[in-house]
Amino acid sequence: MDTPLTPGANSQEVIDLEHAQLRALINSMGDGVIATDQQGKITLCNGAALNVLDNNTELLGTYIGNSLKLLGADEQPIDATRLVLDTKSQMASRDFRLRYSDNSLVNIYLSIAPVRGSSGNGQDGYVLLIRDITHEKSLEEERDEFISIVSHELRTPVTIAEGNLSNALITIDRDGDIRTIDNVVHQAHDQVMFLSSLINDLSTLSRAENGDLQHVNFVSINVHQLLNSLAQNYLPEVEKKNLTMHTEIDPSLELLHSSNLYVREILQNLVTNAIKYTEHGMITVTARPATGGVMFTVSDSGIGISRNDQEQIFDKFFRSEDFRTRKSSGTGLGLYVTRKLARLIDAKITVESTLNKGSTFSIFVPDMTPAAQAAKLAESLPSQPAA
Ligand code: ADP
Repeated sequence: MDTPLTPGANSQEVIDLEHAQLRALINSMGDGVIATDQQGKITLCNGAALNVLDNNTELLGTYIGNSLKLLGADEQPIDATRLVLDTKSQMASRDFRLRYSDNSLVNIYLSIAPVRGSSGNGQDGYVLLIRDITHEKSLEEERDEFISIVSHELRTPVTIAEGNLSNALITIDRDGDIRTIDNVVHQAHDQVMFLSSLINDLSTLSRAENGDLQHVNFVSINVHQLLNSLAQNYLPEVEKKNLTMHTEIDPSLELLHSSNLYVREILQNLVTNAIKYTEHGMITVTARPATGGVMFTVSDSGIGISRNDQEQIFDKFFRSEDFRTRKSSGTGLGLYVTRKLARLIDAKITVESTLNKGSTFSIFVPDMTPAAQAAKLAESLPSQPAA
């Protein structure tokens, strides 16, 4: 750092200036910095450290253990003064926690290093770096949980398919009974189809999680064409189950500005479920104008969803315990992904359902005209300081 020396400044003034610059630098750091003397008494503490400690009182000259109320991974209190004094070489850990006065807990990163030799006579004290990592930790935990669920979900069908194919091979070697082979190969095929839908859902999920409004491709959607082609695509499935499918489109509807891909995927997920969870009757898909956008509904006369389940159906990997749900295969990711996609285009999804009568999912999709897109983009960008 350049020290602006004024002509004639004496060495004490230079030292004072350097101290002031160093203090300003440490105070501007995003991480908390605490320095202590050899006894563990605080000699320096920047603003970020006070923030993490949730303390606004004067700490200089007090023992570090009085203000740094550490908890270990097992939630047992740790004497921070002792911890600091026992540190012989630099240590760092992400496993400590702090408990605030309102009893809330935060995860912290803490590093402690002895400071040696600046005064030329051995150890001067210690320097601590401290940072609140609660948010990072919860993301890490969520990721670990996700990986463990996905690997479990992948393992089950692979094991079943492998078992069925081994049976097919044994049967071929033994007597070649075509009926047995046909049966086990079909079962293996079902599992592979399940794996394929799981991989599709996961890849849509990853696209949805990486996407943000700036990457959504807004286009003009002809709602009549969209619903008619959707109904056409699902006709074979609907007929296979002896169901009927209706579309009701308000004739006054014109173009909707949104993501064709996401609106289509949302409606497809809902129609797929409507068909899957309906044994008799019909599926109805409607579209009508609503203030600022279009309201779509997908209704079925199927098994319905209990009140309790309605609160969880949008959760990751949730599937109802209802035996009728379990009769058909599913990943429990469809509605989770649907909600993610809906958020990307600011759409709102609600559900109304009665057990044994059927369900109606309503989706309000806002009309993102070029002017609305520009306003949204401006909102999402960090505000520029006034010139
Ligand atoms: P899945 O792959 O199991 O269909 P989803 O995330 O699409 O996963 O749905 C989650 C759960 O919500 C389903 O397992 C089912 O219990 C319930 N569900 C969703 N849609 C319907 C519907 N139309 N009728 C009855 N239950 C439904």
